[in-house]
Amino acid sequence: MTSEMDPFLAEVMKLRGGKDVLECYQCGTCSASCPALPDMIHGPRRIMYMIQNGMEQEVLSSPDIWRCVSCYSCMNRCPRGIEITVLFSELRRLAIQKGYVDDKEAEFGQAFTVTLAQHGRQFEPELLARYYLRVWDVLSLLGMVPLGLKMLVKGKLPFAPEHIQEPQALQEAGVIPPAKDLPGGGWIDQVIALMITVLGFMDALVKLASGKKEAQHG
Ligand code: SF4
Ligand code: SF4
Repeated sequence: MTSEMDPFLAEVMKLRGGKDVLECYQCGTCSASCPALPDMIHGPRRIMYMIQNGMEQEVLSSPDIWRCVSCYSCMNRCPRGIEITVLFSELRRLAIQKGYVDDKEAEFGQAFTVTLAQHGRQFEPELLARYYLRVWDVLSLLGMVPLGLKMLVKGKLPFAPEHIQEPQALQEAGVIPPAKDLPGGGWIDQVIALMITVLGFMDALVKLASGKKEAQHG
């Protein structure tokens, strides 16, 4: 039977979260539960339909797979138990692997995923730096520095990333791809490491200055 199956459908069924795609009976619960639907073109229900019909180009080049915020609403409510959130994560990986990714939204999605994979939580300064470096938009990155510094000093942004105890649990849950599939290494990681060191140094200076102020007033 597999030999007659559409190759893209067969490929998706081998992905994590993909084995039950043929069980989807288009009830629409996933799309009705999706907080990102207003920003999507198709929504998860239609993405499932397109997968069932072997529409590789439409699925893998769809911005919808990058607009998914991995909230698990669809997956928790699907009456067929389809692991939609996990599958969307896999579709993003497949889109990168097959070269369907060439727009800024997808670059942002990758910057988001890599940052999340590093710490288990988002770290906004790193996310923005990774994104602007990926799209070679250094001018925009530099343009954000004054605002970013102001927010850091006022405590609106953290100086250092927070870490969860077991970031690998996110990979096991399918929120982010396995480490081997993440784009990593290279000069962007080195720039980010330098940035985090500089931010740590600034954090220490700010704490020192506020400590001195308190001592003068105390
Ligand atoms: S909730 Fe499940 S069965 Fe219903 S349309 Fe979505 S994927 Fe298909
Ligand atoms: S996991 Fe993604 S596709 Fe599913 S409801 Fe949340 S945002 Fe929508």
